[in-house]
Amino acid sequence: MNILVINCGSSSLKYQLIDSESEAVLAKGLCERIGIAGSAITHQAGEGDKIKTEIDMTDHTQAVAAVIDKLTDPEVGVVSSLDEIGAVGHRIVHGGENFASSVIITDEVIEAIEKCNDLAPLHNPANLIGINSCKEIMPNVPMVAVFDTAFHQTMPKKAYLYGLPYEYYEKYKVRRYGFHGTSHDFVSNRVAELMGKKREDLKIIVCHLGNGASVSAVLHGQCVDTSMGLTPLEGLIMGTRSGDIDPAIVSFLAEKEGKTVQEIIDICNKKSGVLGLSGGLSSDFRDLGNAADSGNEKAQAALETWGYRVAKYIGAYVAAMNGVDAIVFTAGVGENNIAARTTACQYLGYLGVTIDPVANNERGEEIRISTEDSKTQVWVVPTNEELAIARETVRLVK
Ligand code: AMP
Repeated sequence: MNILVINCGSSSLKYQLIDSESEAVLAKGLCERIGIAGSAITHQAGEGDKIKTEIDMTDHTQAVAAVIDKLTDPEVGVVSSLDEIGAVGHRIVHGGENFASSVIITDEVIEAIEKCNDLAPLHNPANLIGINSCKEIMPNVPMVAVFDTAFHQTMPKKAYLYGLPYEYYEKYKVRRYGFHGTSHDFVSNRVAELMGKKREDLKIIVCHLGNGASVSAVLHGQCVDTSMGLTPLEGLIMGTRSGDIDPAIVSFLAEKEGKTVQEIIDICNKKSGVLGLSGGLSSDFRDLGNAADSGNEKAQAALETWGYRVAKYIGAYVAAMNGVDAIVFTAGVGENNIAARTTACQYLGYLGVTIDPVANNERGEEIRISTEDSKTQVWVVPTNEELAIARETVRLVK
């Protein structure tokens, strides 16, 4: 069965068509600047060239139509008609407390997702537009919602409550939810397979280190803690997000800088993290690595502060699980950035971790980077959120 995986942002739409039997990506692409002048679709069939076409897309329904046009195009398409798309899997950012697993999309599900809009005002409305657009164009194709938050719903209360008046949890559901759940689930499963063990028998810490970044503690197959909170702003220092800060900083800076609270939160989201720490140099770890190597002190401090925070979260989750069998790195930085992995791992001596420098020199592949005799295993496992969404979709529609 061919599964269309859709990841809708406010002005973008990413897609992949995946053959669920071979798990091959038949085609993938991106619609950009939806509803803005200069909208375009970039489409790639299999391993072929990326073809960018400027085309008017005033809303997401037109974007979905453009995707279908490309997928069924006689030249660059990969299927002959819509009938060859068996189901659609949608990435949904926030499922609140309503969804602890993926679900077939019904009118009730759409309503329940709408109720979470408050919790993810930038993402959920866009995800819903994607669902409604697909419904309009493919009314008879079953659709599945796969939530970023679902995997973390097994967290115990002591991990998800904030130290705030309890009524805010009761009234507004202010609590920690966690994100990147599809990736944490996929990677913790895969590392257990690679270790030749059942996930149920292991204590795993997954470090999803990309532009957005989070760590999770997976105890016997269930998430028991994760670093992101009510929103993806909490936890690690990220590409542009601050991660944990003293909340009093927000009003302090608002007063000093003559800005509103929302403006300071925007700075915490978009201008902080390693970008902010490096004095605005870059959020990209390649640029920062090069600058640090050439002696740029702010870039060096940014990378050191970033790695120290990762190591502290790993330590916290060793405590949460009373031990750890495997630590796994994934996502752009975790999979590819050797120096960043080395920085984070230098604090792990107390776990008996020793890193094999030859293995740690590899990029973007499944590999154990700890030595044979390392007491705790350390792995790199590339994540694949689209494949995970496709697998969930097939599981539910079959
Ligand atoms: P993601 O958000 O998962 O796409 O990750 C983006 C981050 O991964 C950026 O900071 C990149 O610098 C980093 N990254 C991606 N590829 C490489 C690479 N080959 N070497 C070093 N860093 C990389």
